[in-house]
Amino acid sequence: MNLAVFPRRNYSYGPTPIAKLSRLSGTLGGPSIYMKRDDLLGLAGGGNKTRKLEFLVADALAQGADTLITCGAVQSNHCRLTLAAAVHEGLRCRLVLEERVPGSYDKQASGNNFLYALLGVDAITVVPGGSDMLAAMQAVANAVEQAGGKPYIIPGGGSNPLGAIGYVACVQELAQQMLEHSTNFDYIVVPSGSGGTHAGVLVGVEGTHLNIPVLGINVSRPNALQEKLIYDLAVATATHVACPAPERDKVRCYDSYVGAGYSRPTPAMAEAVTLLARTEGILLDPVYTGKQMAGLIDLVRGGFFAPTDKVLFLHTGGAPALYHYRGQVLA
Ligand SMILES: *Cc1c(COP(=O)(O)O)cnc(C)c1O
Repeated sequence: MNLAVFPRRNYSYGPTPIAKLSRLSGTLGGPSIYMKRDDLLGLAGGGNKTRKLEFLVADALAQGADTLITCGAVQSNHCRLTLAAAVHEGLRCRLVLEERVPGSYDKQASGNNFLYALLGVDAITVVPGGSDMLAAMQAVANAVEQAGGKPYIIPGGGSNPLGAIGYVACVQELAQQMLEHSTNFDYIVVPSGSGGTHAGVLVGVEGTHLNIPVLGINVSRPNALQEKLIYDLAVATATHVACPAPERDKVRCYDSYVGAGYSRPTPAMAEAVTLLARTEGILLDPVYTGKQMAGLIDLVRGGFFAPTDKVLFLHTGGAPALYHYRGQVLA
């Protein structure tokens, strides 16, 4: 596995730090919890999509594209970061937003929606939940072509084998940090959504022979669907980077923390977001990392980990969406 063969843009300023969360660990009374701060990656507001976009946008540029097209939910971090990457590269950007919760799109909404306007998005198309997003993006791409532009479509969440390489690279970075700090981890806890992060981390662990179990906390789907999604993407990503694919049983998902569905608040999410703010001064988000942390907290309380374990929580960002969800986090 040699990731240097893939064209890559560089959107960050060095490795993301690994923080030891002593106050949170003390409060929970469980294992030692550490956090890899991918919320501090580059581009406007940071977060996991930045690592994927380094490879995806390099490919778009290599193909001579002048317009990035992508899709997401109405408060999509991925759309915000794709748009920011486009601005940074002097490209144009059009977004297709899926209204997964009926009536949830509000042109005047804060959070990421405000940032789409601030960053100067070229066009936004809103489609109903359950729409064929690829077809909707293709229609936008056709319009761009008719106007003489060169579109490049990035799938939802940047989760194809090329985007997932961002998280294979993240594990290489992590392995180097573990060596430098003489710190081993017994578990890595990741959020599991469109899957590029979870699948990329699994391939990275395989390719670096780190031999650390990866626990994925679902944010939308039940386990049966999510584990298949992650496994298929991990196999495709492993093929793409010429690394042996992870075994099927390395894909471990937890679906008890989704609640009523994607982006729907849960009491455990609100507790987790508030707890991290008040023990560590670290902001999580209500849609992904809040539920991911709710999962970790529940596993700690349920005695899943040994007191001597060291657990690494991958913080994938999302705090810019917080401002849209005030009432769902604080009563
Ligand atoms: C997109 C996103 C995730 C989920 O990552 P996937 O690679 O789509 O599974 C997690 N956290 C945040 C903040 C995100 O924006």
